[in-house]
Amino acid sequence: MSQIDNKRNKPEMNHVIKNVIENKCDDHHRNPPTTMAERQRQRFVDKATKVSAKYLRRLAELPGAPDAMEPFFKVLQDIYVDLKNVAKPADTKIIGTYCVMVPNELIYAVGAQPVKLCSGSYTAFAIGDDLVPRDACPLIKAVMGFQAMEVMPIYDDCALMVVPITCDCKKKMAGMLKQRVPTYALHVPTAKSEDRDMEQYVQELYQLIPELEAVTGQTISYQSLAESIDAMGFAQYQMSKFNEFKKHVPALIKGTHAMALMNAFSYLPVEQWSQQLHRLNQELARRKKDKHYVSKDKQPRIMITGSPVIFPNIKIPLLIEETGGILVGDETCMGERSLYDPTVVVDQSFDGLMRSLANRYTRPCTCPTFVDNSQRIYRIKQMIADHQVQGVVYHVLRGCLVYDFEYQTLEDELGKLGIPVIRVESDYNEEDIEQLRIRIEAFIELIKLKDLETRISKLKKSEIAG
Ligand code: SF4
Ligand code: SF4
Repeated sequence: MSQIDNKRNKPEMNHVIKNVIENKCDDHHRNPPTTMAERQRQRFVDKATKVSAKYLRRLAELPGAPDAMEPFFKVLQDIYVDLKNVAKPADTKIIGTYCVMVPNELIYAVGAQPVKLCSGSYTAFAIGDDLVPRDACPLIKAVMGFQAMEVMPIYDDCALMVVPITCDCKKKMAGMLKQRVPTYALHVPTAKSEDRDMEQYVQELYQLIPELEAVTGQTISYQSLAESIDAMGFAQYQMSKFNEFKKHVPALIKGTHAMALMNAFSYLPVEQWSQQLHRLNQELARRKKDKHYVSKDKQPRIMITGSPVIFPNIKIPLLIEETGGILVGDETCMGERSLYDPTVVVDQSFDGLMRSLANRYTRPCTCPTFVDNSQRIYRIKQMIADHQVQGVVYHVLRGCLVYDFEYQTLEDELGKLGIPVIRVESDYNEEDIEQLRIRIEAFIELIKLKDLETRISKLKKSEIAG
C-alpha cells in the first residue's frame, strides 16, 4: 500500500535551530556591542541569522524530508545561522565563485575549495540597496551587502573571487569587488556557437590557472586536474541518479528539499556532497520500493525556471509546495544546471582536458546571458516531458532583465503544448509573500481544474467508444 509522508517536522532539527538562536541571544547579552558600528553590525547579524533560521525551520518542517537531508540542512545552518566558514583543512584556501561558468575542477586541482557566493539574503540585500543602483538585481545587492558588513567568513576569507562576466549586473559587481578583494573577471562567450568566442574562453581558463596558483602556492598538474574531473564526475553521476528519482510519479521527494541540497553544493567539498547525495539516493530507492511517497497521484506537478533561487530566499518553492503543488523540476542556475552535463574528455592531453572543461561549462549552459538561447526552450520542454510537468512558474527577480527578455518566447512555446505558465516577479523581502501566495494558489487551482476537465473528457470519449 502506498503511503504519503505527513511527518510534520524533525524535532531534533528544530531543537538544533532553537539552540542556535538562544545561544546567539546569550552571546549578545554577555558581550554587548559598544560603538555605533558594532551595534549596527550586531543588529545585522541578529536579523540575518534569524531570517535564515526561520527559513531553515520551514524547510525542516515541510513534510516528508528524507533522513538523509540532515547533513544538507546542517551545512545551510553552519553557513547562514552559525556564520561558520566552510569545512576544510586549515591550510586550504577558499576561492569564491559566482554563476555556473567557473570550472570547480580547476580550483580543486590547485588544492583549494570553491565556494559559490551568489546570495539570497534579505538582510544583506537591504544593506546592498544603498550601495548599488536601485534597479540592480537583488542578488548583486545581497553580495555587496555581505561584503560591506564583513560578517560572513565565506566572503571575508576568500583568497580570490572569480566572477564570470555574464550580465551587466555581474560585470559591475566584479568592478566593485575588485576595489575590496582580489577578483578575477572571467570573460565568458556571448555566442557559444561561435568557435572564435569559444577559443577565447579556453584562453581565459588558461589565464585563470596562474592566478589560482599564485594565491594557493600550488601548481596544477595533469594528474590533479584529471582527478578533480573524476571527483566532479562522481557528483554528476549521483545527480543523474537523483534526477531519475525526481521523475517518479507520485513524488519521492519534495522539490524544495531538492533545492536545499543543490544550495548546499555551494558550501561542501565535492566528495562530501556526493557521498551525502549517494546516501539520499539509497533512501529514495527504499522509498520507491516501499511506495513511500510525498505527494498524491493528482497533485499538480510544477516546474520552476527563471532567476536563481538561493537560500534563504526560498519563499517561492515553499509557497508552491505549501499551497498544494509538488515541485518536480528546477531549471534555475542553483538547480541541476550546474551538474547536469558531465565533462566529456575526447583528447587525453592537458589541452584536451582544458577544452573539455570549456565545452562543459558553456555549451550546454542555458543561462539567458547568451545571444541565442533557443537551447533553453528545448531543455525546458525536455524537462516538462521527463518530469510530467503540468505547469511552469517563471521566476523573475526584480532587475533581472535577461530572464525577463526570455519570458514571452517561453510563454508562446509552452502555450503550443497547452502547458500553463505564470510569471512571478519578486524581490529579496517578505512584503510580497501574501500577494505571491494568492497568485500561486490560484495557478495551482487552475491546473487542478484543467486536469479534471481532461480526465472527464477522456472518460466521455471512452464511454462513447464503448
Ligand atoms: S542565470 Fe544569471 S546568475 Fe545564474 S548562473 Fe546564469 S548568469 Fe549567473
Ligand atoms: S542573471 Fe539576473 S539574477 Fe543573475 S546576476 Fe544577472 S541580473 Fe542578477
